[in-house]
Amino acid sequence: MSEENKLKSGPRDNVTYPINVIYCGNCTMPIEYCEYYPEYEKCKQWLEKHLPTEFEKVKIGNSLENPTGEEEKKRQKRGGKGIIKTKKKEEGPKQICVSRAPRGKKKSVTVVTGLSTFDIDLKVAAKFFGQKFACGSSVTGEDEIVIQGDVKDDLFDVIPEKWPEIDEDLIEDLGDQKR
Ligand SMILES: [Zn+2]
Repeated sequence: MSEENKLKSGPRDNVTYPINVIYCGNCTMPIEYCEYYPEYEKCKQWLEKHLPTEFEKVKIGNSLENPTGEEEKKRQKRGGKGIIKTKKKEEGPKQICVSRAPRGKKKSVTVVTGLSTFDIDLKVAAKFFGQKFACGSSVTGEDEIVIQGDVKDDLFDVIPEKWPEIDEDLIEDLGDQKR
């Protein structure tokens, strides 16, 4: 009981109220309202003189609100990046190669290479070919798919249809592989 009274008697323990409200010597308003006072410039001068630290805060706040060249620069950078990206995409040889390879006495398989140069997921592509031609199809190398069947000629229609970014002209017919 006595302890509690001691705590309550001193204003220092209740830090939450008026203490952090600073009144302006020019307009007599709390300083956060100064900017609404017609003579804000005079308030700032008073702040600079009497409360330099508060004045710094006001200055910083102002510059943050100000949409300076910063934003513009960022936007320009982003645009520049975009251009570089599209340029990069055009670089490098992009070509699909298809060929027929003999398997067994009468059978042949179709080998497709170069799909990954178009950022195509080989697993997805192999599955697609398997479903399209109703036959086995698997990824057999870093950028190679083997389709269990002679479907080479069909690929010139099927590939551009599935991936419009691949023009028929970008598919090279390597003919028959001989072993
Ligand atoms: Zn003021």
